[in-house]
Amino acid sequence: MMATWLINISYFVVAVLFILGLKAMASPVSARKGIVWAGAGMVLATVVTFLTPGMQNILLIVVALALGGALAWWSGKVVKMTDMPQMVAIYNGMGGGAAAAIAALEFARGHVTGPVVTTLATLGALIGAVSFSGSCVAWAKLQGVMQKAFRLPAQNAVNVVLGLVTIGFGVVIVLGGHPSPLHIIVFFGLALALGAILTLPIGGADMPVVISLFNAFTGLAVGFEGYVLGNPALIIAGIVVGAAGTLLTQLMAKAMNRPLTNILFQPITGEAQAGGAIAGSMKEVSGLDAAAMMRYAQKVIVVPGYGMAVAGAQHKVWEMAQLLEKEGVEVKFAIHPVAGRMPGHMNVLLAEAGVPYDKIFDLEEINAEFPLADVALVIGANDVVNPVARTDKSSPIYGMPILDADKAQNVIVIKRGKGAGYSGIENALFYEDNCRMLYGSAQQAVADVIAHVKEMAG
Ligand code: NDP
Repeated sequence: MMATWLINISYFVVAVLFILGLKAMASPVSARKGIVWAGAGMVLATVVTFLTPGMQNILLIVVALALGGALAWWSGKVVKMTDMPQMVAIYNGMGGGAAAAIAALEFARGHVTGPVVTTLATLGALIGAVSFSGSCVAWAKLQGVMQKAFRLPAQNAVNVVLGLVTIGFGVVIVLGGHPSPLHIIVFFGLALALGAILTLPIGGADMPVVISLFNAFTGLAVGFEGYVLGNPALIIAGIVVGAAGTLLTQLMAKAMNRPLTNILFQPITGEAQAGGAIAGSMKEVSGLDAAAMMRYAQKVIVVPGYGMAVAGAQHKVWEMAQLLEKEGVEVKFAIHPVAGRMPGHMNVLLAEAGVPYDKIFDLEEINAEFPLADVALVIGANDVVNPVARTDKSSPIYGMPILDADKAQNVIVIKRGKGAGYSGIENALFYEDNCRMLYGSAQQAVADVIAHVKEMAG
């Protein structure tokens, strides 16, 4: 067993490692180091917890750790890059569920006493349970086992009534102090239903913000339950996750120009369509012509999207960019904050392929450069370059900032066919006069372009 002062110092070291780790994760250059630091903090916190006086059921905890650790190790190894968002959603939900389970247990054991602890335990239980069931629904949608958007009749009224009843039950628990098992079961049932029902109608381009919101919820719930258990490491970890998740939620909501209340109460649905009919037709281009347009261009801006991730085409894309650069073409990469299916999805893929960070630009940095580009090459991206977000007030994505690919002199779009983007709406860019479609899976289409550029190499 460790002395209390040593335990407290260890938790202080844990807090420093978490914060330094998070700081390092802010840049792709140091992110790997940040993950190692935060991971080391987590290992230290776990070891110290084992050495805390009064710990019981050590064997059970070791078995749980071994099972959970093995499952996480295995799933981390086998999960495909395109399935990463589902994994993040479900792991995040597990954190919320664990916090709620701690609260339930502490209530059942009669360990929750005093108004402050009871209030925090109840809040943690509510937020953790909402995050758990909401994240499970988000997982099911991203995994494709559940319909993307499903609205109940009078959905908003149901949300409000259920929310009020659940909070009402929470208030009864806080005021009463010693909830009966029935009270606890009803409260958790209501909170779980609330999380699921809130998430059911969210299906369109709003999903990233919701996942991030649940991440913030989980952090808060863990922090509250850390207070209930008197465990500083849990409090710090929870606060760090809660604060980071809240900031990320705000940033993403801003990136999509969607207030959080709209995301929760007026979600974009998959069935929504752009208001005005889109005039014109899609014009096809061959791999040879696409290669020639880029080989003789001065500046090409590549816009990667979810389709590039599905095709795993990032290595080919970087090979093509290097080839073009050898021929004297300036190539830049433009990343939309919600491109792909998770925050930073495209950055991770491009970094994996070896694209230097100084060639990768955010929306605000690159948008002014599109009119100067001879070609904008859109690879498996759709919603993030849809100009109806700028022009069509009746469109469900109206107001979302987009990459101005349509303003380039020429646009080449690589995609397999006429498939819609995640939000399910038609893309006006594909019908523009300056836009040409290069049909095919991204990997094979880019390989085709590479072959033709090589033939033209001077
Ligand atoms: P989209 O999902 O809008 O579009 C992807 C396009 O890729 C489709 O139109 C599809 O067309 C094409 N595609 C699919 N497979 C391939 C392939 N093998 N080769 C080439 N093309 C392919 O992607 P964006 O990145 O533009 O936008 C992301 C969307 O996802 C946004 O709406 C965002 O809100 C949402 N989202 C984002 C999350 C995040 O955190 N970043 C999380 C959850 C959702 P076709 O079928 O014709 O090939």
